[in-house]
Amino acid sequence: HLSPPVSLCLSASLCTMSTPSSSSARSLKIGVVGLGPFAQFLSKTILKQGHAITATSRTDYSHICSHLDISFYRDMGEFFEADNDVILICTSILSLADVVKSMPFHRLKRPTLFVDVLSIKEHPREVLLQVLPPESDVLCTHPMFGPQSGRDGWEGLTFVYDRVRIREEAVCSSFLHIFESEGCKMLELSCEEHDKLAARSQFLSHTIGRILSEMEIGSTSIDTKNFQTLVKLKDSTMEDSFDLFSGLFIYNRFAQQEMMNLEVAFGKVKQKLVDRMNEESNPSVSNQ
Ligand code: NAP
Repeated sequence: HLSPPVSLCLSASLCTMSTPSSSSARSLKIGVVGLGPFAQFLSKTILKQGHAITATSRTDYSHICSHLDISFYRDMGEFFEADNDVILICTSILSLADVVKSMPFHRLKRPTLFVDVLSIKEHPREVLLQVLPPESDVLCTHPMFGPQSGRDGWEGLTFVYDRVRIREEAVCSSFLHIFESEGCKMLELSCEEHDKLAARSQFLSHTIGRILSEMEIGSTSIDTKNFQTLVKLKDSTMEDSFDLFSGLFIYNRFAQQEMMNLEVAFGKVKQKLVDRMNEESNPSVSNQ
């Protein structure tokens, strides 16, 4: 790995951040696990705010990290010894359980806040409570935006969180402040409530985007605004990995029902059209 982390603030835990809404928010040392597209996107804003980042990942991101001012550790044990305030878990939904179970918790130097950003919430809550040492705090979160929708800033975008097990308030509120101070709409919601809502919103939009992609839709010379919206939905959905999409289905217990609702609704709409077509082609039957 690269040389030991050079924190932007020499003693990260002692520095205070001077932002208008929270005078007590402090600079954090954040260790990212899983430096894929979403973690890289988050890291840019976190660094801009003056926090220090270390990272580890399955893939070697040393090169990207040297450009981003992130200290990259190939070895998870050395990463755990880097004395982070927060471990920010950004791995895929499918790999979460294996990644967390492989963590060498005995190498942590002190109780640490574990935060996840997975797009489903009951599953990480369960895994983290089962596997983490009891002295570790747990904050489950879902930023309801990504590299596309958050490209021009996070103002007005929703940040969902559940304080699953928090004793060290200062670290937790400093972490939440990262999103507050960017203007996110902060929404405290239980993991169960999040998953219910997300199955009807995010999972549904991803599924429809994937269906549109299977149909290979694309812009035409006579696009309506509504059709342009569909093309955008297809394009932005396909930016996310299939791992992410399948995670939304496999690890959200409410998603299967929504998939069935979609199939039933499609059948009903189709049936209404077939009924009307039959009426039109045979008016005497429908007038009886
Ligand atoms: P993703 O495909 O969901 O996850 C990619 C990350 O998972 C990479 O860091 C990858 O590591 C790691 N990973 C995958 N399989 C692994 C395995 N078998 N063992 C260890 N690590 C593995 O893509 P993403 O968009 O970056 O999303 C990351 C997380 O953020 C997901 O949990 C997702 O639900 C959540 N999230 C994403 C968005 C978004 O807009 N994309 C928004 C909110 C939340 P390597 O890169 O090292 O291979």
